[in-house]
Amino acid sequence: MSEDKMLEGKVALVTGAGRGVGAEIAKMMASRGAKIIVNDLGGEADGEGTDQMPAMETVKAIRESGGEAEANFDSVGDFSAAKGMVEQALDHYGRIDILVNNAGILRDVIFHKMTEEDWDAVINVHLKGSFNTSRAAATYFRKQESGVFVHMTSTSGLIGNFGQANYAAAKLGIVGLSKSLALDMSRFNVRSNIISPFAWSRMIGTIPINDEAQRERVEKLRAMTPDKVAVMATALCADTARNVTGQVFAVRNNEIFLMSQHRPLRGMHEGKGWTPESIVDHAFPALETMFYPLDRSADIFSWDPV
Ligand code: NAD
Repeated sequence: MSEDKMLEGKVALVTGAGRGVGAEIAKMMASRGAKIIVNDLGGEADGEGTDQMPAMETVKAIRESGGEAEANFDSVGDFSAAKGMVEQALDHYGRIDILVNNAGILRDVIFHKMTEEDWDAVINVHLKGSFNTSRAAATYFRKQESGVFVHMTSTSGLIGNFGQANYAAAKLGIVGLSKSLALDMSRFNVRSNIISPFAWSRMIGTIPINDEAQRERVEKLRAMTPDKVAVMATALCADTARNVTGQVFAVRNNEIFLMSQHRPLRGMHEGKGWTPESIVDHAFPALETMFYPLDRSADIFSWDPV
């Protein structure tokens, strides 16, 4: 397949595309022929403030490389603004084919100190934001009987991490959203997949470093560039990836993983019906060999990135 034709004629909305992973996705999709709406509110890593520069810089880079892009500075957390992003794609380019839900913030704090605002801010940008843009795009995807969603999750949700209850809940929520979109919209030839990226960005810079092990982990993350994630996001949007939907991938530098999804691991049956006592006496000991330890992301991805 010709490199520059893969997304020719397609229009993509990439959220949070002013920096990090989103900026690389926007640029790579543009390099493969897609026209891009570059959304970025330009806030701080914790979601405070606004700045038009990040989105403008990505637009400038795309245009300088001969691509087409328009900036959007609104928040994905605002339902009507998200609708406006999709309408902007239609107004400028006449269609929308690809939605990448990438915008994100962090408010890391150990759970017993997490405020309602820490919770709401993270859920609003990640989970509600992904719903807002997806809902807006779904109307057009359904009408044209085609479309691709790509969302971002995290091993903080898929596996676990300290101090990220709000983020983990939001990111696992988006896994459910992606799967539901894949199911509900498959009849309209619409696909939805999710990527769990590992990439050095300012977001990683906010991971609290409390011990030597965490410091070493962050140093390794520094070597992983966000363009590696962009390669996967772009591939997922190719027409030739038509069989790829409802999946969870992880991308870590030059490594690509298909991640597992929740399925029954082991069953116990009690013909007379269970009591709390018999569960404690029989079911828990029988199931215990299959219990998951309290793993964190780094316990599972324990080897250096390749
Ligand atoms: P980043 O902070 O570099 O970029 C995120 C961008 O989103 C920023 O430019 C920010 O301005 C924008 N943004 C924030 N709130 C917004 C809003 N309400 N509306 C529009 N834009 C908004 O972060 P990144 O590392 O590039 O992360 C990108 C995505 O990948 C996020 O969803 C993140 O959770 C996920 N992720 C990243 C990593 C990683 O290793 N970098 C790991 C797991 C998951």
